[in-house]
Amino acid sequence: MSESGNTSFQQLSLKPLAFAGIFFAFLLLGGTAGFIVYQGNLQKRADEVQSMYKDLLDFRSTLTLIDQQLIVIPEHPEVLQEIIQNTKLLQFRSVNFRTRAEKNQMPELASWMKSRQLVLEKMLTDIETKGEAAGNNIPLMILELDDVILQAAIDVKLSNDKVYDAVQLFFFIVLAVLIIIIISAGWLIVSNYRQTVMPLNQLAEKLRMLNEELPESFHDTAEEVKKNIRREEFSSDVNQITDSIVRFCQDIELKNKKLDELFIKDEKTNLYNYRHFKDHLIVDVARAKRFNEKVSLAMIDIDRFKAYNDANGHVAGDIVLERMAGIIREECREADIPARFGGEEFAVLFPRTDSREAIEIVDRLRNIIGAEPFYHEKVLPGGQLTISAGIATWPDDATDWFSLINNADKALYRAKHTGRNRVVHFRELEMEREKKSSES
Ligand code: GH3
Ligand code: MG
Ligand code: MG
Repeated sequence: MSESGNTSFQQLSLKPLAFAGIFFAFLLLGGTAGFIVYQGNLQKRADEVQSMYKDLLDFRSTLTLIDQQLIVIPEHPEVLQEIIQNTKLLQFRSVNFRTRAEKNQMPELASWMKSRQLVLEKMLTDIETKGEAAGNNIPLMILELDDVILQAAIDVKLSNDKVYDAVQLFFFIVLAVLIIIIISAGWLIVSNYRQTVMPLNQLAEKLRMLNEELPESFHDTAEEVKKNIRREEFSSDVNQITDSIVRFCQDIELKNKKLDELFIKDEKTNLYNYRHFKDHLIVDVARAKRFNEKVSLAMIDIDRFKAYNDANGHVAGDIVLERMAGIIREECREADIPARFGGEEFAVLFPRTDSREAIEIVDRLRNIIGAEPFYHEKVLPGGQLTISAGIATWPDDATDWFSLINNADKALYRAKHTGRNRVVHFRELEMEREKKSSES
């Protein structure tokens, strides 16, 4: 497995992340709603101050008009009524101004308007009774009004600035939140990639490599995956997938093992079947040829088995077959290949074994089977179940794997024809043949 570095990083946990996301969403919504209300109030006050500023200018021009009209009264007495009307209008407006100023937190304007109400009242009385405004009241009021108007102009500017500052602050906060969200999302994507996509790729690569490297019959992919995968780097979801894959592999491997066994084993005797035996024989003969080694092959046949079956039934015959197969397996060495050749015939392949050693092993086998008590074997002519065997050895008795089988079979035939319960090596047949040809 390719190393992905030793850095271990925190597992992504979706619950706290989801809660944090919901919290931030609510914060953003609440903040925006709060801001809209706050900004609306600021804007309303700024508009109000602006409109008061315009009304103050009106107030001032009305006052100036009254001042000018008072001068022309001696020549135009008809304007008196208009002056009275305008003064009453100013009186009314001053009351209105006071209320609006108090409402918009402009205490100086409110108190000035309050104090001027008395002056306007006195002015009205003077105009109505004497046709003039006493003292220097109007020019003084205009001067004072200029100050008030200037103050209102400053207030208008400050109110507009406040609105502008609030909007700026809001956009700054929104920008900061957006940056936080983008960074978090980027971090989430990278973490997710490292904990999900990368591990899954590793897993897939590991499975692919194991499948390529391990020979089919030795597949232990699940165990290898468990050993080699760095699970602490995976997210819990990927670990669950890995567990499923491991279980899936274990299941397949178990089934494959069973299939492998079925493919190479004989069901009744649990010895190797002819197919597997033949494959081994071909490979072993080729290797013996290459390394100049010896390979022996024994063909074994149960004596008078038909008679046994006829007397005791096929079920009893099958039990005998199974038991004999067991004995053959026990007596063979690890490297030997015992197989059921067909019917009640067995074949055993002895790699790197010469004829002497092979005869020794098979003869011991014959003795053990002969001594083994089998069910109702007394019914047989000899009173016991025995085997006959023929052996041939590569390279002395054969030119290829096929003739090795044939010659071992010929030796078995000779064993049968010379009394059964015997082991005959093909060499004996050859020697007899040579002897006969030298005699004639
Ligand atoms: P020989 O000593 O000459 O070998 O005599 P034999 O009776 O054993 O003769 P042969 O080898 O020709 O007979 C084979 C018999 O083996 C025939 C059949 O009834 C029996 N046989 C073959 N396969 C099975 C099997 O799977 N189960 C049982 N019970 N009998 C089998
Ligand atoms: Mg036979
Ligand atoms: Mg037989």
